[in-house]
Amino acid sequence: MKTSSSRISGLGTTIFAEMSALAVRTGAINLGQGFPDTDGPTAIIDAAVDAMRHGHNQYAPGTGIPALRRAIAAHQARWYGLAIDPDTEVVVTTGATEAIAAALFGLVDPGDEIIVLEPYYDSYVACIQMAGGVRRPVTLRAPDFRLPVDELRAAVTPQTTAILLNSPHNPTGMVLNTEELDAIATLAIEHDLTVISDEVYEHLTLDGLAHTHISTLPGMAERTLTISSSGKSFSLTGWKIGWGTGPAALVRAMMTAKQFMTYTSGTPFQPAIALALGSGTDYFDAFSHGMRDQRDLLCAGLSDIGFDVFVPEGTYFVSTDIRPLGFEDGVEFCRMLPERAGVVAIPHEVFYDHKEVGRPLVRWAFCKRPEVLIEALDRLRVLTPR
Ligand code: PMP
Ligand code: GLN
Repeated sequence: MKTSSSRISGLGTTIFAEMSALAVRTGAINLGQGFPDTDGPTAIIDAAVDAMRHGHNQYAPGTGIPALRRAIAAHQARWYGLAIDPDTEVVVTTGATEAIAAALFGLVDPGDEIIVLEPYYDSYVACIQMAGGVRRPVTLRAPDFRLPVDELRAAVTPQTTAILLNSPHNPTGMVLNTEELDAIATLAIEHDLTVISDEVYEHLTLDGLAHTHISTLPGMAERTLTISSSGKSFSLTGWKIGWGTGPAALVRAMMTAKQFMTYTSGTPFQPAIALALGSGTDYFDAFSHGMRDQRDLLCAGLSDIGFDVFVPEGTYFVSTDIRPLGFEDGVEFCRMLPERAGVVAIPHEVFYDHKEVGRPLVRWAFCKRPEVLIEALDRLRVLTPR
């Protein structure tokens, strides 16, 4: 009996599931998988409860309820000055995860080459593989994880059809700067490439750094499919409401694939996220300032313990090099850590083709209450050499 396809060969279990299960099994503090330990705003949760109580419990339209599509378009106008047609240029998805899958299944043919930034989010390469595409990683290196523009240029071949970006970048926390975005745009236009831009951390730049939406650059609106999600911006990762925006042809390709994966996404959550997207600047400021304080707390503590800490500009993750503490292998380190210190983290290595680059790097999530971060740091002090 056949029990699996070549399409999923080697995909195994995601590191996030493995490490969260390890945290539950060992009772360790989970600084691995990126989810906050506090809920999103009560008014938004109440809006979802209200929607459930008032009959919003059957299939939503495939592209999403009109109120949410309008709210997404209004959000893009307000934050980035983009004019998006809510009827043809927006599709609501089951988290950014489905948006990524639908984009890749809708746009990639077998043999197409897709450029990804390495370390990459694991679902990118899984979906490229399932679509029959070929990934071409361009490596971001510590300490600052800047984009090596020459390497990006060299990665383009006649088979390249798309660049898959992520900024603010998980797991490094790097935020693409103007020169890097310009270089990507120039290359995309020169080679007529599609850009798929995963911006789930768009509201998590931490030092007042502006997040630039690549589709606002000249010539980019017509070739950029932007993906985002309510999970990170509103601390509601379990609701799985994401979206894609961009030119109608790209959104249509995504929708065509999406309709045969989930058809539609969580109806009662949609009016609540429509409300959330209209939140005032004070909400977004308080959110990123709180996360910045948590970053500073965790980074200072990890540095005290002896890690080499690469302070992130965005996201809610910090990456460290474990070698100053006498370790070499991040996977081994993360498997031993719950037992040794009662903390869970994520090894970078699983996000690379060039495994040796990621081997000594480990990612820590700081989207946890300050008292939890302090307790985790207390526990990690056992690692400091005496
Ligand atoms: N892209 C990146 C870079 C992520 O870190 C995540 C995790 N939130 C996702 C996509 C998936 O988002 P969602 O939970 O909305 O599916
Ligand atoms: N995006 C989150 C992270 O990077 C969660 C990922 C997941 O569970 N698939 O930790």
